Amino acid sequence: MRALRLENGRLQLTDAPRPVRHGECLVRVTMAGICGTDLELVKGYADFSGIPGHEFVGVVEAVSKPEDRHWIGQRVVGDINIGCGVCRPCRDGIKEHCQNRQVLGIRGRDGAFAEYLTLPSCNLYPVPDAASDVAAVFVEPIAAACRVLEQVSVGPATRVAVMGDGRLGLLIAQVVQTAGAQAEVFGRHDDRVALARRMGLAARLLPAAALAARDRVDVVIEATGAADGLARALDLVRPRGTIVLKSTVHDPVRLSTWPIVVDEITIIGSRCGPFLPALDLLARGNVIVDPLVTCISGLDDFERAFRSAETGLKVIFAIS
Ligand SMILES: [Zn+2]
Ligand SMILES: [Zn+2]
Repeated sequence: MRALRLENGRLQLTDAPRPVRHGECLVRVTMAGICGTDLELVKGYADFSGIPGHEFVGVVEAVSKPEDRHWIGQRVVGDINIGCGVCRPCRDGIKEHCQNRQVLGIRGRDGAFAEYLTLPSCNLYPVPDAASDVAAVFVEPIAAACRVLEQVSVGPATRVAVMGDGRLGLLIAQVVQTAGAQAEVFGRHDDRVALARRMGLAARLLPAAALAARDRVDVVIEATGAADGLARALDLVRPRGTIVLKSTVHDPVRLSTWPIVVDEITIIGSRCGPFLPALDLLARGNVIVDPLVTCISGLDDFERAFRSAETGLKVIFAIS
């Protein structure tokens, strides 16, 4: 099969053997999206070598367990964490925190920038007909956005600031609005702020200074991907408010922590989320993704695709 391999920080289109894993389903990948994590992998984060890619939609082509036969021919997306199955977090049902986990295309397991991948059937979710292949590529990041709603209770009276006008920020703002909250995107780019408004979201440029006390919000969701995101989040949140961190920043950050204590701020880390609510939001059309697609590319054109993903929104590979 054709596959994009990452080795020593270099991507190459290669001819790889079809993956075979006992007990798992073989999925023919239809489309796969490039995510910020993929860009970080190429830069050397996590020492990953292999086939990256974890946001995908595909069709189950073969299974290795008879009880999985009903999956054959099913259009699916997949949960990217595969736990060891025996440790405490796995037994508690939180395989995304298994110390020995594999993560599709990120840690210890080849991913979706290839014609085929394998996953256990317990990781697969059928895609409703109402969701297009392009929409389905967004299920994983929308699930990550849905995770916020599991962690923070928001309602019509909750004022939420979503920092970051990138792919994830624009998805999180939409998901938060589905919970009835008043969400506003704070961006750094005129064109993205304008795009957010065209998508029906409240949006403005991130102010250079801290918000006045009366304008500070209950919940700040930080999805800038920038090292100063947490410091800027503290400029927007009210006393006893909550900051949800979505950016995985690897560089050390210098930060005055006293406002966290004095203002009694709650800071929550937030990563992967539930697929079912994400699929439901897409199927109902409550989250729109088409304006977030920068381009759809073939695997042959991977160099240009990765360059577009650096500056654009979502770049998608159409694979088979
Ligand atoms: Zn991702
Ligand atoms: Zn485990």
